[in-house]
Amino acid sequence: MGVFRRTKIVATLGPASESPKVLDRLIRAGVNVVRLNFSHGTADEHRKRAENVRAAAKKNGVYVGILADMQGPKIRCGKFKKGKTMLTPGQHFIVDGALGLNDGTDERVGITYKELVGDVEPGARLLLNDGLIVMDVVEVKGQEIHCTVVIGGELSNNKGINRAGGGLSAAALTDKDKEDIKTACAIGVDYIAISFPRDGADMDYARSLVRAEGSNAGLVAKVERAEAVLNLDSILEASDAVMVARGDLGVEIGDASVPPVQKRILREAPKHNTPVIVATQMMESMCNNPIPTRAEVNDVANAVLDGTDAIMLSGETAAGKYPVEAVEAMHRTCIETEKQPVMPSPSTRDPRYPPQSVDECIARQAMEVTHAMPIKAIAAFTQSGNTVLFMSRHVSRVPIYALTPLQSTAGRVTLFRNVIPKPISGDYGPSDAQRATKDAIAVMLYDKLVEPDDLVVMTLGTPMGAAGATNTMKIVHASSVFEA
Ligand code: PGA
Ligand code: MN
Repeated sequence: MGVFRRTKIVATLGPASESPKVLDRLIRAGVNVVRLNFSHGTADEHRKRAENVRAAAKKNGVYVGILADMQGPKIRCGKFKKGKTMLTPGQHFIVDGALGLNDGTDERVGITYKELVGDVEPGARLLLNDGLIVMDVVEVKGQEIHCTVVIGGELSNNKGINRAGGGLSAAALTDKDKEDIKTACAIGVDYIAISFPRDGADMDYARSLVRAEGSNAGLVAKVERAEAVLNLDSILEASDAVMVARGDLGVEIGDASVPPVQKRILREAPKHNTPVIVATQMMESMCNNPIPTRAEVNDVANAVLDGTDAIMLSGETAAGKYPVEAVEAMHRTCIETEKQPVMPSPSTRDPRYPPQSVDECIARQAMEVTHAMPIKAIAAFTQSGNTVLFMSRHVSRVPIYALTPLQSTAGRVTLFRNVIPKPISGDYGPSDAQRATKDAIAVMLYDKLVEPDDLVVMTLGTPMGAAGATNTMKIVHASSVFEA
Protein backbone atom coordinates (compact mmCIF):
# COMPACT_ATOMS: atom_id res chain seq x y z
CA MET A 1 0.00 0.00 0.00
CA GLY A 2 3.01 2.24 -0.04
CA VAL A 3 3.50 5.00 2.52
CA PHE A 4 0.99 5.33 5.33
CA ARG A 5 -1.29 8.34 4.88
CA ARG A 6 -3.22 9.59 7.93
CA THR A 7 -5.78 11.76 6.15
CA LYS A 8 -8.58 9.85 4.42
CA ILE A 9 -9.66 10.34 0.81
CA VAL A 10 -13.35 10.23 -0.15
CA ALA A 11 -14.09 9.83 -3.87
CA THR A 12 -17.48 10.38 -5.52
CA LEU A 13 -18.47 7.71 -8.02
CA GLY A 14 -19.95 8.60 -11.38
CA PRO A 15 -19.62 7.82 -15.07
CA ALA A 16 -15.86 8.48 -14.96
CA SER A 17 -15.16 6.05 -12.13
CA GLU A 18 -17.80 3.36 -11.69
CA SER A 19 -16.40 0.71 -14.04
CA PRO A 20 -14.69 -2.14 -12.16
CA LYS A 21 -11.43 -1.27 -13.90
CA VAL A 22 -11.30 2.38 -12.80
CA LEU A 23 -12.62 1.46 -9.34
CA ASP A 24 -9.74 -0.94 -8.95
CA ARG A 25 -7.25 1.78 -9.88
CA LEU A 26 -8.89 4.30 -7.55
CA ILE A 27 -8.65 1.90 -4.63
CA ARG A 28 -5.05 1.09 -5.42
CA ALA A 29 -4.37 4.84 -5.53
CA GLY A 30 -5.67 4.98 -1.96
CA VAL A 31 -9.38 5.83 -1.83
CA ASN A 32 -10.69 5.07 1.68
CA VAL A 33 -14.38 5.90 1.25
CA VAL A 34 -16.55 6.15 -1.86
CA ARG A 35 -19.52 8.48 -2.05
CA LEU A 36 -22.66 7.34 -3.86
CA ASN A 37 -24.46 10.50 -4.94
CA PHE A 38 -28.21 9.88 -4.62
CA SER A 39 -28.93 13.04 -6.63
CA HIS A 40 -28.33 10.86 -9.67
CA GLY A 41 -29.22 7.28 -10.49
CA THR A 42 -31.66 4.55 -9.52
CA ALA A 43 -31.69 2.21 -6.52
CA ASP A 44 -30.44 -0.62 -8.73
CA GLU A 45 -27.56 1.48 -10.00
CA HIS A 46 -26.50 2.36 -6.46
CA ARG A 47 -26.73 -1.28 -5.40
CA LYS A 48 -24.58 -2.34 -8.33
CA ARG A 49 -22.01 0.37 -7.58
CA ALA A 50 -21.78 -0.73 -3.94
CA GLU A 51 -21.25 -4.34 -5.04
CA ASN A 52 -18.48 -3.29 -7.40
CA VAL A 53 -16.80 -1.23 -4.67
CA ARG A 54 -16.85 -4.15 -2.26
CA ALA A 55 -15.50 -6.53 -4.88
CA ALA A 56 -12.66 -4.15 -5.80
CA ALA A 57 -11.78 -3.56 -2.14
CA LYS A 58 -11.73 -7.28 -1.43
CA LYS A 59 -9.52 -7.92 -4.41
CA ASN A 60 -7.03 -5.38 -3.07
CA GLY A 61 -7.20 -6.65 0.51
CA VAL A 62 -8.41 -3.35 1.96
CA TYR A 63 -11.60 -2.13 3.59
CA VAL A 64 -13.33 0.73 1.75
CA GLY A 65 -16.23 2.57 3.38
CA ILE A 66 -19.39 3.53 1.49
CA LEU A 67 -21.13 6.87 2.04
CA ALA A 68 -24.61 7.39 0.59
CA ASP A 69 -25.26 11.09 0.02
CA MET A 70 -28.93 12.13 0.02
CA GLN A 71 -30.09 14.81 -2.41
CA GLY A 72 -32.00 16.82 0.20
CA PRO A 73 -34.23 19.83 -0.59
CA LYS A 74 -32.00 21.12 -3.35
CA ILE A 75 -34.11 23.65 -5.24
CA ARG A 76 -33.81 23.55 -9.00
CA CYS A 77 -35.33 25.51 -11.83
CA GLY A 78 -37.28 23.57 -14.45
CA LYS A 79 -36.32 22.93 -18.04
CA PHE A 80 -36.50 25.36 -20.94
CA LYS A 81 -38.39 24.61 -24.11
CA LYS A 82 -35.24 25.61 -25.96
CA GLY A 83 -32.91 24.00 -23.38
CA LYS A 84 -31.67 27.34 -22.05
CA THR A 85 -32.06 31.10 -21.95
CA MET A 86 -29.60 33.99 -21.98
CA LEU A 87 -30.06 36.44 -19.12
CA THR A 88 -28.74 40.00 -19.27
CA PRO A 89 -28.24 42.38 -16.34
CA GLY A 90 -31.22 44.63 -15.69
CA GLN A 91 -33.60 42.24 -17.42
CA HIS A 92 -36.91 41.22 -15.86
CA PHE A 93 -37.32 37.46 -15.21
CA ILE A 94 -40.00 35.39 -13.46
CA VAL A 95 -39.47 32.27 -11.37
CA ASP A 96 -42.94 30.81 -11.69
CA GLY A 97 -44.34 28.28 -9.22
CA ALA A 98 -47.36 27.70 -11.48
CA LEU A 99 -45.40 26.98 -14.66
CA GLY A 100 -44.86 23.38 -15.83
CA LEU A 101 -41.35 22.01 -15.20
CA ASN A 102 -40.70 21.61 -18.94
CA ASP A 103 -42.12 24.95 -20.07
CA GLY A 104 -39.37 27.52 -19.44
CA THR A 105 -39.05 30.44 -21.88
CA ASP A 106 -36.90 33.57 -22.18
CA GLU A 107 -39.37 35.20 -19.79
CA ARG A 108 -39.98 32.66 -17.04
CA VAL A 109 -39.05 29.24 -15.69
CA GLY A 110 -40.72 26.64 -13.44
CA ILE A 111 -39.33 25.46 -10.10
CA THR A 112 -39.10 22.14 -8.21
CA TYR A 113 -39.94 23.71 -4.85
CA LYS A 114 -43.25 25.55 -5.09
CA GLU A 115 -42.95 26.81 -1.50
CA LEU A 116 -40.14 29.16 -2.53
CA VAL A 117 -42.84 31.72 -3.28
CA GLY A 118 -43.67 31.92 0.43
CA ASP A 119 -40.01 32.11 1.46
CA VAL A 120 -38.96 35.23 -0.43
CA GLU A 121 -39.93 38.90 -0.36
CA PRO A 122 -38.90 41.96 -2.35
CA GLY A 123 -35.20 42.57 -1.73
CA ALA A 124 -34.33 38.87 -1.35
CA ARG A 125 -31.48 37.69 -3.58
CA LEU A 126 -31.58 34.45 -5.57
CA LEU A 127 -28.44 32.70 -6.74
CA LEU A 128 -28.66 30.31 -9.65
CA ASN A 129 -26.20 27.78 -11.03
CA ASP A 130 -23.88 27.83 -7.98
CA GLY A 131 -24.01 31.59 -7.81
CA LEU A 132 -22.98 32.27 -11.39
CA ILE A 133 -26.30 34.04 -11.97
CA VAL A 134 -27.74 36.53 -9.49
CA MET A 135 -31.21 38.05 -9.42
CA ASP A 136 -33.04 40.23 -6.92
CA VAL A 137 -36.71 39.76 -6.09
CA VAL A 138 -38.77 42.87 -6.86
CA GLU A 139 -42.27 41.54 -6.36
CA VAL A 140 -44.16 38.37 -5.42
CA LYS A 141 -47.50 38.03 -7.29
CA GLY A 142 -49.47 34.86 -6.57
CA GLN A 143 -47.17 32.04 -7.62
CA GLU A 144 -44.84 34.32 -9.54
CA ILE A 145 -41.54 35.63 -8.19
CA HIS A 146 -40.64 38.68 -10.28
CA CYS A 147 -36.93 39.42 -10.39
CA THR A 148 -34.38 41.77 -11.86
CA VAL A 149 -31.22 40.10 -13.15
CA VAL A 150 -28.09 41.47 -11.46
CA ILE A 151 -25.47 39.14 -12.94
CA GLY A 152 -26.52 37.48 -16.17
CA GLY A 153 -25.34 34.58 -18.24
CA GLU A 154 -26.65 31.41 -19.75
CA LEU A 155 -29.24 29.59 -17.63
CA SER A 156 -29.89 26.03 -18.75
CA ASN A 157 -32.13 23.17 -17.60
CA ASN A 158 -32.38 22.07 -13.93
CA LYS A 159 -29.82 24.46 -12.43
CA GLY A 160 -29.75 24.87 -8.64
CA ILE A 161 -31.31 27.87 -6.89
CA ASN A 162 -30.22 29.18 -3.50
CA ARG A 163 -31.39 32.13 -1.47
CA ALA A 164 -28.50 34.32 -0.33
CA GLY A 165 -28.25 34.29 3.47
CA GLY A 166 -30.41 31.17 3.82
CA GLY A 167 -33.82 31.29 5.48
CA LEU A 168 -35.70 28.75 3.35
CA SER A 169 -38.35 26.82 5.23
CA ALA A 170 -37.67 23.50 3.42
CA ALA A 171 -37.31 20.51 5.74
CA ALA A 172 -33.99 18.70 5.37
CA LEU A 173 -35.59 15.39 4.38
CA THR A 174 -37.75 15.14 1.29
CA ASP A 175 -39.97 12.18 0.39
CA LYS A 176 -37.30 11.12 -2.08
CA ASP A 177 -34.68 11.19 0.69
CA LYS A 178 -36.87 8.97 2.88
CA GLU A 179 -37.10 6.41 0.09
CA ASP A 180 -33.38 6.72 -0.62
CA ILE A 181 -32.55 6.17 3.06
CA LYS A 182 -34.37 2.82 2.82
CA THR A 183 -32.34 1.91 -0.27
CA ALA A 184 -29.06 2.96 1.36
CA CYS A 185 -29.84 0.94 4.50
CA ALA A 186 -30.73 -2.11 2.41
CA ILE A 187 -27.41 -1.78 0.56
CA GLY A 188 -25.67 -1.74 3.95
CA VAL A 189 -23.75 1.52 3.53
CA ASP A 190 -21.43 2.72 6.31
CA TYR A 191 -22.48 6.38 6.31
CA ILE A 192 -25.53 8.35 5.21
CA ALA A 193 -25.01 12.04 4.49
CA ILE A 194 -27.94 14.40 5.04
CA SER A 195 -28.04 17.47 2.79
CA PHE A 196 -29.08 20.91 4.06
CA PRO A 197 -29.82 20.01 7.72
CA ARG A 198 -30.68 23.13 9.72
CA ASP A 199 -29.78 21.86 13.18
CA GLY A 200 -29.25 18.83 15.39
CA ALA A 201 -32.97 18.06 15.41
CA ASP A 202 -32.89 17.43 11.65
CA MET A 203 -30.04 14.98 12.24
CA ASP A 204 -31.89 13.29 15.12
CA TYR A 205 -34.87 12.79 12.83
CA ALA A 206 -32.68 11.37 10.05
CA ARG A 207 -31.08 9.03 12.58
CA SER A 208 -34.47 7.76 13.71
CA LEU A 209 -35.34 6.87 10.11
CA VAL A 210 -32.02 5.07 9.60
CA ARG A 211 -32.31 3.11 12.85
CA ALA A 212 -35.91 2.19 12.03
CA GLU A 213 -34.49 0.39 8.98
CA GLY A 214 -32.26 -1.62 11.29
CA SER A 215 -29.13 0.08 9.98
CA ASN A 216 -26.18 1.08 12.10
CA ALA A 217 -24.86 3.57 9.51
CA GLY A 218 -23.17 6.73 10.75
CA LEU A 219 -24.96 10.02 10.11
CA VAL A 220 -23.05 12.78 8.31
CA ALA A 221 -24.34 16.36 8.43
CA LYS A 222 -23.51 18.42 5.37
CA VAL A 223 -22.94 21.97 6.57
CA GLU A 224 -24.20 23.90 3.54
CA ARG A 225 -26.89 26.18 4.84
CA ALA A 226 -26.56 29.44 6.76
CA GLU A 227 -28.69 28.01 9.60
CA ALA A 228 -26.35 25.04 10.02
CA VAL A 229 -23.47 27.41 10.70
CA LEU A 230 -25.53 29.21 13.34
CA ASN A 231 -26.47 25.86 14.91
CA LEU A 232 -23.03 24.31 14.58
CA ASP A 233 -22.86 23.00 18.15
CA SER A 234 -26.11 21.08 17.93
CA ILE A 235 -25.15 19.73 14.48
CA LEU A 236 -21.76 18.52 15.75
CA GLU A 237 -23.34 16.91 18.79
CA ALA A 238 -26.04 15.08 16.81
CA SER A 239 -23.80 13.77 14.00
CA ASP A 240 -21.23 11.01 13.60
CA ALA A 241 -19.32 13.22 11.16
CA VAL A 242 -19.79 16.56 9.41
CA MET A 243 -18.97 17.63 5.88
CA VAL A 244 -17.87 21.17 5.06
CA ALA A 245 -19.99 21.25 1.89
CA ARG A 246 -18.35 24.29 0.37
CA GLY A 247 -20.35 24.30 -2.86
CA ASP A 248 -23.78 25.18 -1.54
CA LEU A 249 -22.35 26.77 1.59
CA GLY A 250 -20.39 29.25 -0.50
CA VAL A 251 -23.51 30.19 -2.42
CA GLU A 252 -25.54 30.75 0.75
CA ILE A 253 -23.05 32.62 2.94
CA GLY A 254 -20.75 34.01 0.23
CA ASP A 255 -17.46 32.52 -0.95
CA ALA A 256 -15.33 34.75 1.29
CA SER A 257 -17.07 33.46 4.41
CA VAL A 258 -16.29 29.81 3.69
CA PRO A 259 -12.61 29.69 4.80
CA PRO A 260 -13.24 31.05 8.32
CA VAL A 261 -16.26 28.75 8.70
CA GLN A 262 -14.16 25.76 7.58
CA LYS A 263 -11.51 26.67 10.15
CA ARG A 264 -14.12 27.10 12.85
CA ILE A 265 -15.68 23.71 12.12
CA LEU A 266 -12.25 22.04 12.25
CA ARG A 267 -11.55 23.78 15.57
CA GLU A 268 -14.89 22.98 17.19
CA ALA A 269 -15.40 19.43 15.95
CA PRO A 270 -12.82 17.73 18.22
CA LYS A 271 -14.65 19.06 21.28
CA HIS A 272 -17.60 16.89 20.24
CA ASN A 273 -15.40 13.99 19.02
CA THR A 274 -16.89 14.54 15.57
CA PRO A 275 -14.84 13.70 12.45
CA VAL A 276 -14.78 16.21 9.57
CA ILE A 277 -14.78 15.85 5.77
CA VAL A 278 -13.70 18.90 3.76
CA ALA A 279 -15.45 18.80 0.39
CA THR A 280 -15.98 20.38 -3.01
CA GLN A 281 -13.63 21.82 -5.62
CA MET A 282 -10.53 20.61 -3.80
CA MET A 283 -8.91 19.55 -7.07
CA GLU A 284 -11.51 21.09 -9.39
CA SER A 285 -9.12 21.93 -12.24
CA MET A 286 -8.28 18.21 -12.46
CA CYS A 287 -11.69 17.64 -14.07
CA ASN A 288 -9.80 18.73 -17.19
CA ASN A 289 -6.09 18.69 -16.34
CA PRO A 290 -3.78 15.91 -15.18
CA ILE A 291 -2.14 18.08 -12.51
CA PRO A 292 -3.70 20.38 -9.89
CA THR A 293 -3.09 24.11 -9.50
CA ARG A 294 -0.77 25.33 -6.76
CA ALA A 295 -3.80 26.87 -5.07
CA GLU A 296 -5.58 23.51 -4.98
CA VAL A 297 -2.55 21.78 -3.50
CA ASN A 298 -2.44 24.51 -0.87
CA ASP A 299 -6.14 24.09 -0.12
CA VAL A 300 -5.73 20.36 0.48
CA ALA A 301 -2.58 20.91 2.55
CA ASN A 302 -4.26 23.50 4.76
CA ALA A 303 -7.22 21.25 5.48
CA VAL A 304 -4.73 18.56 6.52
CA LEU A 305 -2.76 20.99 8.70
CA ASP A 306 -6.00 22.05 10.37
CA GLY A 307 -6.63 18.44 11.36
CA THR A 308 -9.38 17.29 8.99
CA ASP A 309 -10.17 13.57 8.97
CA ALA A 310 -10.94 13.38 5.29
CA ILE A 311 -10.81 15.32 2.05
CA MET A 312 -13.30 14.70 -0.71
CA LEU A 313 -13.34 14.60 -4.51
CA SER A 314 -16.63 15.29 -6.30
CA GLY A 315 -16.76 16.04 -10.02
CA GLU A 316 -13.04 15.23 -10.24
CA THR A 317 -13.70 11.51 -9.80
CA ALA A 318 -17.39 11.39 -10.81
CA ALA A 319 -17.15 12.99 -14.22
CA GLY A 320 -13.61 14.29 -14.70
CA LYS A 321 -11.00 13.24 -17.20
CA TYR A 322 -8.39 12.31 -14.58
CA PRO A 323 -10.07 10.52 -11.64
CA VAL A 324 -7.06 8.40 -10.68
CA GLU A 325 -4.61 11.28 -11.04
CA ALA A 326 -6.81 13.39 -8.73
CA VAL A 327 -6.58 10.75 -5.99
CA GLU A 328 -2.82 10.48 -6.54
CA ALA A 329 -2.44 14.26 -6.27
CA MET A 330 -4.34 14.27 -2.97
CA HIS A 331 -2.30 11.35 -1.71
CA ARG A 332 1.09 12.90 -2.36
CA THR A 333 -0.05 16.26 -0.98
CA CYS A 334 -1.16 14.58 2.26
CA ILE A 335 2.06 12.58 2.59
CA GLU A 336 4.23 15.70 2.34
CA THR A 337 1.96 17.83 4.51
CA GLU A 338 1.67 15.23 7.23
CA LYS A 339 5.41 15.56 7.86
CA GLN A 340 4.55 18.94 9.38
CA PRO A 341 2.93 19.31 12.78
CA VAL A 342 -0.87 19.55 12.46
CA MET A 343 -3.08 21.83 14.52
CA PRO A 344 -3.04 20.56 18.09
CA SER A 345 -6.40 19.06 18.98
CA PRO A 346 -7.55 19.56 22.57
CA SER A 347 -4.86 18.12 24.80
CA THR A 348 -5.61 14.73 26.29
CA ARG A 349 -5.41 16.51 29.64
CA ASP A 350 -7.36 19.68 28.85
CA PRO A 351 -9.47 20.17 31.98
CA ARG A 352 -12.24 21.69 29.87
CA TYR A 353 -12.72 18.40 28.04
CA PRO A 354 -12.46 15.63 30.60
CA PRO A 355 -13.00 12.09 29.27
CA GLN A 356 -16.65 11.13 29.52
CA SER A 357 -16.19 7.38 29.95
CA VAL A 358 -13.70 4.68 30.89
CA ASP A 359 -12.99 3.81 27.24
CA GLU A 360 -12.34 7.46 26.37
CA CYS A 361 -9.98 7.67 29.34
CA ILE A 362 -8.04 4.58 28.18
CA ALA A 363 -7.96 5.92 24.61
CA ARG A 364 -6.38 9.17 25.75
CA GLN A 365 -3.80 7.39 27.89
CA ALA A 366 -2.84 5.28 24.88
CA MET A 367 -2.26 8.45 22.86
CA GLU A 368 -0.14 9.97 25.63
CA VAL A 369 2.06 6.90 25.74
CA THR A 370 2.91 7.31 22.05
CA HIS A 371 4.60 10.60 22.92
CA ALA A 372 6.56 9.13 25.83
CA MET A 373 7.86 5.87 24.30
CA PRO A 374 9.07 4.80 20.83
CA ILE A 375 5.77 3.09 20.04
CA LYS A 376 5.42 1.64 16.53
CA ALA A 377 1.67 1.04 16.41
CA ILE A 378 -1.52 1.11 18.43
CA ALA A 379 -3.68 -2.00 18.22
CA ALA A 380 -7.14 -1.39 19.61
CA PHE A 381 -9.78 -4.09 19.93
CA THR A 382 -13.06 -2.33 19.29
CA GLN A 383 -16.67 -3.36 18.90
CA SER A 384 -18.35 0.01 18.33
CA GLY A 385 -15.30 1.83 16.95
CA ASN A 386 -15.55 4.38 19.77
CA THR A 387 -12.14 3.64 21.27
CA VAL A 388 -10.38 4.43 17.98
CA LEU A 389 -12.64 7.44 17.41
CA PHE A 390 -11.50 8.87 20.75
CA MET A 391 -7.86 8.03 19.96
CA SER A 392 -7.93 9.58 16.51
CA ARG A 393 -9.13 12.92 17.87
CA HIS A 394 -5.60 13.42 19.21
CA VAL A 395 -2.46 14.06 17.24
CA SER A 396 0.04 11.25 16.96
CA ARG A 397 2.63 9.97 14.51
CA VAL A 398 1.62 6.37 15.30
CA PRO A 399 -0.96 4.50 13.19
CA ILE A 400 -4.00 3.15 15.02
CA TYR A 401 -5.19 -0.32 13.95
CA ALA A 402 -8.86 -0.93 14.68
CA LEU A 403 -9.17 -4.66 15.37
CA THR A 404 -12.81 -5.52 14.99
CA PRO A 405 -14.92 -8.55 14.14
CA LEU A 406 -17.75 -6.32 12.90
CA GLN A 407 -18.05 -5.28 9.24
CA SER A 408 -20.09 -2.26 10.22
CA THR A 409 -17.33 -1.06 12.56
CA ALA A 410 -14.59 -1.65 9.98
CA GLY A 411 -16.67 0.52 7.65
CA ARG A 412 -17.26 3.20 10.25
CA VAL A 413 -13.57 3.71 11.03
CA THR A 414 -12.54 4.12 7.36
CA LEU A 415 -13.27 7.83 7.75
CA PHE A 416 -11.23 8.44 10.92
CA ARG A 417 -7.87 10.18 10.55
CA ASN A 418 -4.96 7.89 11.38
CA VAL A 419 -7.08 4.74 11.79
CA ILE A 420 -6.76 1.56 9.71
CA PRO A 421 -9.49 -1.09 9.89
CA LYS A 422 -8.19 -4.58 10.56
CA PRO A 423 -10.99 -7.14 10.53
CA ILE A 424 -10.38 -10.03 12.94
CA SER A 425 -12.22 -13.23 13.71
CA GLY A 426 -15.05 -12.70 16.14
CA ASP A 427 -15.00 -15.98 17.96
CA TYR A 428 -13.50 -14.72 21.21
CA GLY A 429 -15.28 -15.51 24.43
CA PRO A 430 -15.13 -13.38 27.58
CA SER A 431 -11.91 -15.02 28.80
CA ASP A 432 -10.04 -15.11 25.48
CA ALA A 433 -8.10 -11.86 25.87
CA GLN A 434 -4.74 -13.62 25.72
CA ARG A 435 -5.60 -15.64 22.62
CA ALA A 436 -6.99 -12.55 20.91
CA THR A 437 -3.83 -10.59 21.72
CA LYS A 438 -1.63 -13.31 20.23
CA ASP A 439 -3.77 -13.54 17.10
CA ALA A 440 -3.72 -9.78 16.61
CA ILE A 441 0.05 -9.47 16.95
CA ALA A 442 0.53 -12.51 14.71
CA VAL A 443 -1.51 -10.81 11.96
CA MET A 444 0.40 -7.55 12.37
CA LEU A 445 3.74 -9.35 12.19
CA TYR A 446 2.62 -11.33 9.17
CA ASP A 447 1.47 -8.14 7.40
CA LYS A 448 4.82 -6.54 8.34
CA LEU A 449 3.07 -3.72 10.16
CA VAL A 450 5.40 -4.31 13.12
CA GLU A 451 8.69 -6.15 13.77
CA PRO A 452 9.21 -8.61 16.65
CA ASP A 453 11.15 -6.04 18.71
CA ASP A 454 8.70 -3.18 18.18
CA LEU A 455 6.75 -1.71 21.03
CA VAL A 456 2.99 -1.84 20.51
CA VAL A 457 0.26 -0.25 22.60
CA MET A 458 -2.74 -2.56 22.90
CA THR A 459 -6.15 -1.67 24.27
CA LEU A 460 -8.97 -4.05 24.97
CA GLY A 461 -11.94 -4.71 27.21
CA THR A 462 -11.89 -7.63 29.56
CA PRO A 463 -14.04 -9.66 29.61
CA MET A 464 -13.95 -9.49 25.80
CA GLY A 465 -16.79 -8.99 23.35
CA ALA A 466 -18.87 -6.12 24.74
CA ALA A 467 -19.20 -2.64 23.16
CA GLY A 468 -17.91 0.33 25.13
CA ALA A 469 -16.03 -1.97 27.48
CA THR A 470 -12.41 -0.99 26.79
CA ASN A 471 -10.79 -0.88 30.20
CA THR A 472 -7.22 -2.10 29.66
CA MET A 473 -4.06 -0.76 28.06
CA LYS A 474 -0.81 -2.68 27.75
CA ILE A 475 2.54 -1.84 26.22
CA VAL A 476 4.22 -4.92 24.78
CA HIS A 477 7.14 -5.92 22.64
CA ALA A 478 5.40 -7.62 19.74
CA SER A 479 7.17 -10.96 20.18
CA SER A 480 6.66 -11.04 23.96
CA VAL A 481 2.96 -11.86 23.70
CA PHE A 482 3.87 -15.36 22.54
CA GLU A 483 6.03 -16.12 25.59
CA ALA A 484 3.33 -16.60 28.18
P1 PGA B 1 -23.24 18.34 -3.19
O1 PGA B 1 -22.77 18.74 -1.72
O2 PGA B 1 -22.01 18.02 -3.98
O3 PGA B 1 -24.13 17.19 -2.99
O4 PGA B 1 -23.96 19.58 -3.64
C1 PGA B 1 -21.51 19.27 -1.47
C2 PGA B 1 -21.50 20.78 -1.51
O5 PGA B 1 -22.55 21.43 -1.61
O6 PGA B 1 -20.39 21.32 -1.40
MN1 MN C 1 -24.49 20.56 -1.65
